[in-house]
Amino acid sequence: MPESNSAFSRVEFLVSAGITGGLPPEDLPELAFAGRSNVGKSSAINALTRRKRLAFVSKTPGRTQTINFFDLGGKGRLVDLPGYGYARVPQAVRAEWDQLVGGYMSTRESLAGVVMLMDARRPFTPHDENLLAWLRPAGKRLLVLLSKSDKLSRQERTKLLQACQARLASRAFDAEVRLFSSLSGEGVEETRALLDSWIQAARAENKKPPEKGN
Ligand code: GDP
Repeated sequence: MPESNSAFSRVEFLVSAGITGGLPPEDLPELAFAGRSNVGKSSAINALTRRKRLAFVSKTPGRTQTINFFDLGGKGRLVDLPGYGYARVPQAVRAEWDQLVGGYMSTRESLAGVVMLMDARRPFTPHDENLLAWLRPAGKRLLVLLSKSDKLSRQERTKLLQACQARLASRAFDAEVRLFSSLSGEGVEETRALLDSWIQAARAENKKPPEKGN
């Protein structure tokens, strides 16, 4: 698709939501980005939207966790879900995350798809597993990005991709898996095109008249 038609070419911060509320109405398809802190999620969002500091704006350590919503040219929304660190997470932090992020993923009707980032060098951390546990019953479209792929050799990349695809398939996840690097650009264009197609598909699904009952 021409670049100007991509929903990612016009992006603006919309609103932050927390446990006490603040979610925007469910009137547009949402693409949610999830991953543990430091996985490269902000860099990925910035690469996909071609903006330098978009996703860093509200990233202050120690702040109460919030879900940040961005408008995608009026066609959909990009949703930046908070992640926590991967080592020794206090129970209270995890409980808050489960309530906020788990709650969002399991109840949000307008959630069209989830982009989950896993570090290519350390996939399937406990945080990743917790995320997958929330995702399975939600049954949403899932794209797994193996981030910072520039840190691996060509051979390692191929092996990793196959291993992750097999591991997700063996657990009945119907997921797309891609290598991704904000630094080298690997996977950026393909990811943007895939997510644009998800927004289009979700908009087409929403336009269908409701099925008539008997
Ligand atoms: P977030 O906490 O998940 O939002 O992660 P950031 O986007 O802030 O990135 C965390 C760290 O990883 C920063 O030091 C980035 O410079 C680095 N980083 C992010 N993406 C890449 C990448 O594609 N390749 C490499 N080598 N480093 C990256």
